Amino acid sequence: MNNKGLLLVVSGPSGVGKGTVLKEFLKTNPNAVYSVSATTRSPRPGEKNGVHYHFMSKEEFLHLIQQDGVLEYAVYSDHYYGTPREFVNQMREQGKDVILEIEVQGAMQVKQKCPDAVFVFVMPPSYQVLKDRLSGRGTEDEKTITKRLTAAKSELSRAEQYDYIVVNDQVEKAAWRLNAIVTAEKCKMNQMKQVIKEVLQYD
Ligand code: ADP
Ligand code: 5GP
Repeated sequence: MNNKGLLLVVSGPSGVGKGTVLKEFLKTNPNAVYSVSATTRSPRPGEKNGVHYHFMSKEEFLHLIQQDGVLEYAVYSDHYYGTPREFVNQMREQGKDVILEIEVQGAMQVKQKCPDAVFVFVMPPSYQVLKDRLSGRGTEDEKTITKRLTAAKSELSRAEQYDYIVVNDQVEKAAWRLNAIVTAEKCKMNQMKQVIKEVLQYD
């Protein structure tokens, strides 16, 4: 029997390195899939529709909400972001671990709806490092960076609502910590009931 896949919710302030760490994590985790979100923000250079996000208009996004097509959604930095529901359900049923890279308001909605989800918050080693990474990425203008740093303060203050904190000092170390979390979650007794049953079945 296939166990249902884990639902791993990963949050952290913009620029902390969530995308970078998850990319590293996914390289060595063929059973994990990344949930591609819907958003109304414009693509950054190099971002592809359907790969990084499903880019859509506000009207299309509102229609998706109306159809009950999103597991959660939030407005962040003047744009809508949401998790398409169908993909998450299908993948988990197939035993795949699903990664949601979403901000805090959305994560708290998932907490209400999916009590079995695992919540991970990615922290920078310091606030200054976060500032440097966000401006160093070079994908946002000054105004957007200031807005995101303001949002970061309130997001960082909600880290205690998560199950695990992963400090992203070095990408490989942070990905390794994420691996350790997934391994530990899979060893939990609830995930192992079938194994226990099978072992007990034989003399
Ligand atoms: P997020 O997805 O959280 O917004 P990104 O993954 O885009 O953040 O990373 C923001 C910037 O920080 C990128 O330029 C990335 O290369 C860099 N970065 C990410 N993790 C580290 C790290 N551990 N050390 C140094 N730079 C990093
Ligand atoms: P960015 O514009 O930098 O790609 O994302 C901005 C913020 O939106 C990040 O914190 C990211 O994790 C979050 N985000 C991305 N997709 C979703 C989503 O589907 N739902 C929610 N609630 N937040 C999301």
